[in-house]
Amino acid sequence: MSDNGFSDEQKYYLQGLAMGVDVARTARGLNVLSGGGGNGTAVTVGAAAEPPPPGGPELMAIEAQDATKAAGGKLCKEEVAKREKHPFKMTAEMEANAAAGQFPKGTDVLLYKFSGMFYVAPAQDAYMCRMRFPGGHVTAPQLRGIADMSETHAGGYIDITTRGNLQYREIPVDKPVEVIRGLMDLGVIIRGSGADNVRNVTGTATAGFDRQEFLDTLPLAKDIHHHILSRPELYGLPRKFNISFEGGGVIATLEDTNDIGFQAVRVTDDQATAELPAGVYMRLTLGGITGHFDFARPTGVILDPGECVEVADAILRVFIKNGDRTNRKKARLKYLLDDWGFDKYIGEVEAVLGRTLKRAAEDQYEMPPAPDRWAHVGVHEQAQEGKRYIGVVFPVGRMTAEQGRRLADLAYRYGGGYLRLTVWQNLLIPDVDEADVETVVAEIKDMGLDVEASSVRAGLVACTGNAGCKFAGADTKGQAMRLADYLEERVELDTPINIHFTGCHHSCAQHYIGDIGFEGTKVEVGDDMVEGYHMAIGGGYADTQGIGRVLIKSLAFDDIPPTVERLINHYLENRVGPAETFVEFSRRAGDEELVTAARGTEAVAV
Ligand code: SF4
Repeated sequence: MSDNGFSDEQKYYLQGLAMGVDVARTARGLNVLSGGGGNGTAVTVGAAAEPPPPGGPELMAIEAQDATKAAGGKLCKEEVAKREKHPFKMTAEMEANAAAGQFPKGTDVLLYKFSGMFYVAPAQDAYMCRMRFPGGHVTAPQLRGIADMSETHAGGYIDITTRGNLQYREIPVDKPVEVIRGLMDLGVIIRGSGADNVRNVTGTATAGFDRQEFLDTLPLAKDIHHHILSRPELYGLPRKFNISFEGGGVIATLEDTNDIGFQAVRVTDDQATAELPAGVYMRLTLGGITGHFDFARPTGVILDPGECVEVADAILRVFIKNGDRTNRKKARLKYLLDDWGFDKYIGEVEAVLGRTLKRAAEDQYEMPPAPDRWAHVGVHEQAQEGKRYIGVVFPVGRMTAEQGRRLADLAYRYGGGYLRLTVWQNLLIPDVDEADVETVVAEIKDMGLDVEASSVRAGLVACTGNAGCKFAGADTKGQAMRLADYLEERVELDTPINIHFTGCHHSCAQHYIGDIGFEGTKVEVGDDMVEGYHMAIGGGYADTQGIGRVLIKSLAFDDIPPTVERLINHYLENRVGPAETFVEFSRRAGDEELVTAARGTEAVAV
């Protein structure tokens, strides 16, 4: 407790609310666009083909649109929609739509996502709601409230996402406003969790209690989260944007898959110079988007941790001003970087900052130890003597309301009163006394969950799939579980293998960084079209970073379990020894060998 009577947690809560009020006040101050009508159509003051720009902080995005048009570009329909109707002035319209039992139509579907509400038809005639938990930090009271609301306002379950975040599904047509208000009452902010915004900021899941981390990244993740929330101009992006802080912990954060990845490095006493004193810095990497075959790459810039937020702010401003607003497929940061190169981009960032950023060559600092592929599941030592964190395993990230309540209760009774969500679609209960571990594990098992996973299930990741996403070509979660069941019965694996199921090319489950990755598609079998996947092999992250090679295309799901079984058995029989991981083996073996082994036949051209 501080001397003002508030704990750090309470201060953050109040800070978040205050900033939310600031954002709302700023939005109300804009005086050009109305709140819209209740029929799902835009109601614009003086509606015309070319509405005047709204002015205020958002002017930066409007000016970028104007510059695009002046250069002969044609704004894509999403940019036109954002220009014609302010996404954060739709409360009255959302209320009216809910009362009338109407879902949004046309580009209003995109605009609703600014408030965290995703209308997911035709997969489901319902909303999905995505929240924000910077650094994956959720308090026990928040999780308990979220679990309760999932029963009264959604499908009775909660999904943990690959950005260390939570989502509701099956929210009925009349409930979105109640959900937003209920979450705000819990101190959960969902503003900007979808659409063209900075998404949930990820950080090392074990930050603050990690036994190998260089830096506790949670304060940084929270700082940038609140910084963005309180600056309306930073919602004016051409496309979505991901930021991650990797402190060098035992659980990989996958910062190299983000638009901005801040990566902790250490300058040792031996490496120190007058310009670069010994200490921990953040290496700036940019442009990660593995669905488009790119990891974030080092820029050569190295930052004091305290510089990260203002540098991220400047990077965003350059992107807002110069990102592509004509073609959604080319509107991510990667494409601007491809066009300009790092030197020009960093030069523009430095111009915004009004100063030059520090550079360092890779031999001027040391990288943190490699992450541990098992560290997100099971019982693990913390940096604090006598404390343990417990990684709970979920079937592809889903927990029931009752499980959520009981986990929150465990964290409150035996842990630090909080939990951490990981990018591996599970959660941790930190700060458990060594003496209480057995009790907590028994309670976890009693609720139908576990803290142990097979070598397959520990690294099994799946996006929503066609049970709740209109883009999906297949039932990713269901089929991932079927594959795990099949392999667990037949394969004796002594090392983790990551298998990622993603329903479409958007790659929410990052299939190109899995040891084995699947991308959903429809496959022709006889006269029928069935659910299937393209299969990539040999992807990796962190110290094994690499994009998987798509070696087999259009494989019907029914053929996948035996295909993977053959591939894994081939690895087990032909690896140099147990020390050779699947990813190492798959990169040593030729494509033809892997395809032949997987198909169980002679190699077939892909
Ligand atoms: Fe939907 Fe595609 Fe993302 Fe899966 S990868 S959740 S199918 S958009």
